[in-house]
Amino acid sequence: MIEQRHALLSSSPGTTRELVSLHFGPADRGRKVLIQASLHADEVPGLLVAHHLRRRLAELEASGALRGEIVLLPFANPVGLAQWVLQSHEGRFDLASGENFNRHYADVAARAAELLVPRLARGANVDLGEARAALRQACAELPAGTELQSLRRALLGLAIDAEVVLDLHCDNEAVLHLYTLPALWPEVEPLARLTGSRAVLMAEVSGDEPFDEACSAAWPRLAAALATRLGRPIELPPACVAVTVELRGERDVTHELAASDAEALLQFLAWRGMVAGPPPALPDLACEPTPLAGSLPVLAPHGGVLVHAVPLGTRVSRGEIVAEIVDPLGGGVTPLESPTDGVLYARESRRFVLAGTRVLKVAGREPVRSGKLLSD
Ligand SMILES: [Zn+2]
Repeated sequence: MIEQRHALLSSSPGTTRELVSLHFGPADRGRKVLIQASLHADEVPGLLVAHHLRRRLAELEASGALRGEIVLLPFANPVGLAQWVLQSHEGRFDLASGENFNRHYADVAARAAELLVPRLARGANVDLGEARAALRQACAELPAGTELQSLRRALLGLAIDAEVVLDLHCDNEAVLHLYTLPALWPEVEPLARLTGSRAVLMAEVSGDEPFDEACSAAWPRLAAALATRLGRPIELPPACVAVTVELRGERDVTHELAASDAEALLQFLAWRGMVAGPPPALPDLACEPTPLAGSLPVLAPHGGVLVHAVPLGTRVSRGEIVAEIVDPLGGGVTPLESPTDGVLYARESRRFVLAGTRVLKVAGREPVRSGKLLSD
């Protein structure tokens, strides 16, 4: 295992932070996987999964079982890790800018296309290794005027040439679920089966450039940018399978869950031939993929005590009562209905909420939302 340290831009004199990446397996085979935890720095389940992965990857490396490089970032967000305010960990938003740590990753396809055009203009086909090198260079050239921008550049630079990117997150309270591009579903389906995912939410464009999309969408965007510049169709495979893995809720932190999640991720890598041995048997799918535009929130119409009415993971029907908001001052009880047929896959963990709070989310089949599809 090789440990690499990536210095972030110092935001003020006397302060420095660094991102640390752990590299397992051979780096000279042209195959790379990146797994990172806690980009939202207060989402802890991924940290414990990274702990179990670290030990297992060291064993697999020692036995010569790794067929490519596996990069593990146990703490993907050193800026957010240090953001404690009045005894609360604020790990989702950068306190300096107010920006979500999992948004605004750069689209580097246009610059990578520019780098590739001179060779391709002579009629050559796109070589995946060269395309990956161009994407790496485009990342390295990104401007970074703040510590946060330098963190985003470092993270994207480590991931952009990987064939698999697994970004480990969690929701407030949730069943395990995934986010990915629709075109990647055939390659993500084994991961959904192995992790027992209860929802898979798919979007071409989620809005505001989350990390997984910046990695996976780089390939179709690169193909489109090259086709425009060269005036001929360019065939490129979806060469990066990037998935946001939501490891249930923020308090679902046990060694049993983390060890079995780590094993599921390694089995997915074995299924892809990144870990030696026979491919694992795939369990049945626990859900069907649904459009992110069909995931509908239920909002609190007024403040009060939130009382959930059905367990997480329940398949609910449109109009079914899924929660109540209780106003102990006025004595009112407002029932909240599911806006669609689907799986209640995530919900608010606080039990007192303000008007407008998203109290739960139901994954429906009909794509009815548009615009920015992710929560703030
Ligand atoms: Zn998150």
